[in-house]
Amino acid sequence: MNDQTAADIKRRAQAVKDELVHKGLLSEDDVQHFLHLAEDWKPENGARVVARAWTDPVFRQRLLEDATAACAEMGYAGLQGEYIVALENTPDQHNVVVCTQCSCTAWPVLGLPPDWYKSPEYRARVVRQPRRVLSEMGLQISPDMGVRVWETSAETRYMVIPMRPEGTESLGVDELSALVTREALIGVALATAVARS
Ligand code: FE
Repeated sequence: MNDQTAADIKRRAQAVKDELVHKGLLSEDDVQHFLHLAEDWKPENGARVVARAWTDPVFRQRLLEDATAACAEMGYAGLQGEYIVALENTPDQHNVVVCTQCSCTAWPVLGLPPDWYKSPEYRARVVRQPRRVLSEMGLQISPDMGVRVWETSAETRYMVIPMRPEGTESLGVDELSALVTREALIGVALATAVARS
């Protein structure tokens, strides 16, 4: 996004907010409350969920059966996290998430969506050409591995559980969670043995 586009979006958002406040549909307190909540929505939360699932088989099972409850148990719940489904990558199947309608993510565990996730190009193309789009984003999926694309709906929000990288057997939850990026939680990257910077 260039500076001009960002400035345009900021101006438009400000105008919409002013109008909503002016009409009494939104208060300044509502906006501040939302911004305060948003500070707690970050992919590091989802990374901690994944790291725990990698190290705690009983939790992993709970996560696969009811991700909403399993995430809530770690304190990650609320707006846009009312129904979370965890998708586990396996040697046979890679999962990737999209919202073709708009830009929905599971806010409590993924944070607000990144720009590329909101782009019309990603939303349109990952459904039709997932392997190609993933490869353009730097992720080569071997031909013998299946790829499944999951379409977010108004109700259901997905998070991907990437496979635990090899050679990480001695790492604890904190170190493991540093290997899981927002991109890995969406399924356009893998968890890597090198921690994110
Ligand atoms: Fe959406």
